[in-house]
Order: sequence, then structure tokens, then C-alpha cells
Amino acid sequence: MMQAHPGLPEFDYIKPASLEEASRFLARRAGEARPFLGGTDVFVRMRDGAWRDRFLVDVKGLPAMNVLAFDPDEGLTLGAAVTMNRTIEHPLVRAHYPLLAEAARSVGGYQLRNRATVAGNLCNASPAGDTLGACLAYGARLKVFSRQGEREVPLDGFFLGPGKTLLQPGDIVTAVLFPAPPAGQAGRYLKLGRNVLSDLSIVGVTALGWPDPARPSGYGFRLALASVAPVPLVPAAAESILSEQPPGADTFAAGAEAAVAACAPIDDARASARYRKAMVRNLVRQALTAIWEEMSGG
Ligand SMILES: Cc1cc2nc3c(=O)[nH]c(=O)nc-3n(C[C@H](O)[C@H](O)[C@H](O)COP(=O)(O)OP(=O)(O)OC[C@H]3O[C@@H](n4cnc5c(N)ncnc54)[C@H](O)[C@@H]3O)c2cc1C
Repeated sequence: MMQAHPGLPEFDYIKPASLEEASRFLARRAGEARPFLGGTDVFVRMRDGAWRDRFLVDVKGLPAMNVLAFDPDEGLTLGAAVTMNRTIEHPLVRAHYPLLAEAARSVGGYQLRNRATVAGNLCNASPAGDTLGACLAYGARLKVFSRQGEREVPLDGFFLGPGKTLLQPGDIVTAVLFPAPPAGQAGRYLKLGRNVLSDLSIVGVTALGWPDPARPSGYGFRLALASVAPVPLVPAAAESILSEQPPGADTFAAGAEAAVAACAPIDDARASARYRKAMVRNLVRQALTAIWEEMSGG
């Protein structure tokens, strides 16, 4: 009888003492070694036989990986190993990046969120990843360590396809960096899954708005769509409409149409492409209406 899950294969567990050691090992063993944080993607993929790495490198105990710090001018430093639950529960995240907390809360169940990290969600680069939209909306960057030194990588352009990113063998993400949040922000993450408890999104809509007198509409908007393209999708034409035309039902409807036009969903076991497009239209309008009511005190 064929087994649904072949079980965890044999691998060597590597616990490096420093970032240098970890990066050197990962670069030298490119193709057969992989870093992990919570392991909630890694161990499932290994168990299912999708990944067959010989070495799993545990990077969550390395220096600075567990930092969670906020500065009103510099913004938020979210260490790569900070779990979803710690992110959600932190008062400074809730106060200054509520959309990140809301998105993280929608990931799996409580036990999963005790292991899973935002950095792991980003590096895993699933188009269904729930926190990718909030990180994009806030303009987050990744702090990446490699043997060549440390660099910052903007999330715009980081995702290349399902499971594919700009990261190279030996690159280790040490933190997710968020700039200071926009004053007067309002945000929503609307996730449509097959059940309300613990499922990947059929469609996920992230929307963030804030007053911005420099724009013709008086407001800036960021949108990101999950599960409707090979990468998390930022519908730029929709954002332009929203920052140029006066906020209200007609503008939100036009923004939603532009978002539908930008997406290229597939038919799969969870939903048809047609249904996904219809849900993008509904959820974008719903999210924009909700954040507008909040921003305008309605
Ligand atoms: C039951 C279940 C339910 C789930 N539900 C959801 C859900 O609702 N929404 C959702 O978005 N996801 C869901 N997931 C997927 C998963 O939990 C998330 O993607 C999670 O955020 C991954 O974080 P992690 O720390 O466990 O990553 P890991 O599994 O440790 O790593 C994920 C990927 O990132 C790479 N990586 C890890 N650390 C680094 C690093 N420091 N530098 C460079 N690359 C690195 C790994 O090699 C791997 O490719 C679910 C998973 C399970 C098992």
C-alpha cells in the first residue's frame, strides 16, 4: 500500500555556533543543506518527500535572531526567529503595526504559531503566505547575512515564484525591518479559506490606507493579493486609482476592478480561477470600505 506521507527521511541536524559558520556551511553544501527557523514548512516538506536535504541547519538560536525592538523613527526590527504568537502579542506591534498582527493571527492554529515565524513565511515564498501582504504594505526589508557581509533586501522584487526568492545559498535572513508606520493608518487583512480555523487562503486581500496630503486623493493606499498569482501581487494600477481619485464607493469599485484585472489565478483543488477573481473584487471593496470608515471616522 502506498503511504500518503513517507515519513521523515534521515538527515543531519546542524546547530552552528555563529552566523559565519552557518553561512559557510550552507554555501559549501548548496543543494543539500537548508536553514530552518520554526520548521513548520521544512519538516512537512521533508516528511512528504518534496524536499530531500541531507543537512538541516537550525539558525533560530543565532545572535540577534530573537530581537523584537521598536523605535519611532527607525521602525520595527523583527528578529527572524520571533514567532507569530510573540509578534501578535507584542504591545508595540499591536500599537504600530496592527495589520501585521492581524495577518499573523490568521496563520494556522495557536500551536503552529508558537513555532512559525514571519521570516519563515517570507522565505518560504508561498503565494498563499498570509503575512507577505502586510510586510509588503508596510514596506518591509529583509536583513540578510552572508559571507560577503550584511545587506538589506527590499521585499518589492524579492519573490520570484512559488518557493523562489532572491536568496542565494549561504544567505541567512536575520531580521525583517519595518520602516516607521504611517500616521493615521487603517488596515485590513481579509482571508478567505475553506474553513475559518486553519487553512491556506483561497484569496487573501491586504489593504493599508493612511492620510497623505501630497497625493491628489489626500490618502495613500497599499494593496497586496494572496493566492491569485505565482507571487504575492501588488496591483499598482489599483493603488494609483486610489491615490488619485476621491475616496468613496465609486473609487473603491474602480480600484477593485483594477485589482481583478491585475491578477492571474489558477484553478486548483481549493477554488476555480473565476471564483478567485470574483472574491478579489468583493474583498478589495470590502477592505477599502472598512479602512475608509476607520480613517474618516465614519
Ligand atoms: C498545519 C499547517 C498550517 C499552516 N497554515 C498556514 C496558514 O494559514 N498561512 C500561512 O501563510 N502558512 C501556513 N503554514 C505554513 C507555515 O507555517 C508558514 O509558512 C510559517 O510562517 C513558516 O515559518 P517557519 O519559521 O516554520 O519556517 P521554516 O519551516 O523554518 O522555513 C521556511 C522556509 O524558509 C527558509 N528559511 C528559514 N529560515 C531562514 C533564514 N533565516 N534565512 C533564509 N531562509 C530561511 C527554509 O529553508 C524554508 O525554505 C502552515 C503550515 C502547517 C504545517
